[in-house]
Amino acid sequence: MGNIETKSGVAASPRIALPGTKFHRVRRAVQSICVIIFILLPLFDIMRVDLVRQRFYFFGAELWISEFSILFLTMMFLWILVAAMAMIYGRFYCGYLCPQMIFSEAANTLERRITRTVNRKLSGLGPRTRRTLALALFYLLLLPASVFITFVFVSFFIPPADLLHRLLTLDIRTAGGIFGASVTLLTFLDFAFLRQGFCTSICPYGYLQNMLADQHTLQVFFQSETGSCIHCEKCVRACPMGIDIRDGSHQLECTHCAECIDACSDVLGRLGRQSLIHYAWGDPSQKTAADRAWYRRLGFRDGKRIAVIVLLFIYATGLSIAIHMRQPVLVRVTPNRITLYTRASDGSIHNRFRLSASNRSHAGARVILSLADLPAAHIVGIQDGVTLQPGETQQFEFDVAASSAAVTPGVNHFRILTHVVPPQNDDAFAETFIAPMESASPNLPADKQTPKEH
Ligand code: SF4
Ligand code: SF4
Repeated sequence: MGNIETKSGVAASPRIALPGTKFHRVRRAVQSICVIIFILLPLFDIMRVDLVRQRFYFFGAELWISEFSILFLTMMFLWILVAAMAMIYGRFYCGYLCPQMIFSEAANTLERRITRTVNRKLSGLGPRTRRTLALALFYLLLLPASVFITFVFVSFFIPPADLLHRLLTLDIRTAGGIFGASVTLLTFLDFAFLRQGFCTSICPYGYLQNMLADQHTLQVFFQSETGSCIHCEKCVRACPMGIDIRDGSHQLECTHCAECIDACSDVLGRLGRQSLIHYAWGDPSQKTAADRAWYRRLGFRDGKRIAVIVLLFIYATGLSIAIHMRQPVLVRVTPNRITLYTRASDGSIHNRFRLSASNRSHAGARVILSLADLPAAHIVGIQDGVTLQPGETQQFEFDVAASSAAVTPGVNHFRILTHVVPPQNDDAFAETFIAPMESASPNLPADKQTPKEH
């Protein structure tokens, strides 16, 4: 690999950079935006899986792990998005968006600049000394960078405030601290020694993308029919993956980053000729007139691609509906039928119910209960409602009580109404109130008497 060669010596790197060329500039702009998004996503709870609190944060919504439907739709949406991207735009993610690639290239650039500076400023020293100094300086700068990258990465799973506290107290005794220190060490080793080697030897997504690609996927092609390659090797030296695009367009290592396109444009442009390397949907030598249609130029070149976009749209719609319908305070009422009913000392009949309430919002909430369709009945136990702190889940037992004169013997159908403050959708739960039969033996305990079946 061309970039690996840069790691070893003080000698000028064979890897060339082409600042200012078309795709290079686009990549740098997109990568800068990606780094900002990478940092903002966990720190502002835009997208984060909190393993400690078992929450999933998704664009402002705090989803609980129990909210299976939304989590399922989110995962499916992201998975299909990734698959659609790979099918239509090839390895665009690897070349333009992937943090591993971005930080690997940044490490290459940093090492190259340090090497050049040491060579220039300390030219009186021997090559071995300069090489050692350059590497030491590079590792010294890489260490805090690794701590920062690890901090952002682990923030996707652990609350950032908790993480910051562990970092500031240099916690390497607890499980969390040891985990953070281990990931920092791996990050350091990755960007010190592996870099793009990670993409070709470890990352499964690179292999997956190659599996999803077909003859209509956007790829980087080398066209040699004209025989005008001057064999300057500039495309090879520009390649961050250290491969030669002239060996074929379907090489596993190629991330379709287009640095070789810029290199060839640069060298042949000076000779007044076109680049021999291009982005193309499918083999450019097989082009037809139909390829000029706008939808084909956007990559929608067959039914499979249209189908995957429609599927993506369906999941996105389902996900936005599910998030829109989500209730910040989840309330459930269920009967407690361990005893059918009990009779209080004043002669009133009691049926027991259970209220489960989860406050999934960031503010306190109050749940107030009332009854409908059961005149003269009232709630005993939580008649004033219950208060829930943010993130709190509680269960409460309560009775619905009525005088025997106010209910019919056997089963009475009624509703328990729940009202949440601050306001959200009110709920109604259809329940049954069981009263003893008139013929029931007064000698039997109340909870042993059987109501009449309706
Ligand atoms: S061959 Fe070209 S497109 Fe592929 S990785 Fe190398 S520079 Fe990027
Ligand atoms: S940069 Fe262009 S001309 Fe030079 S070797 Fe590569 S393909 Fe040939």
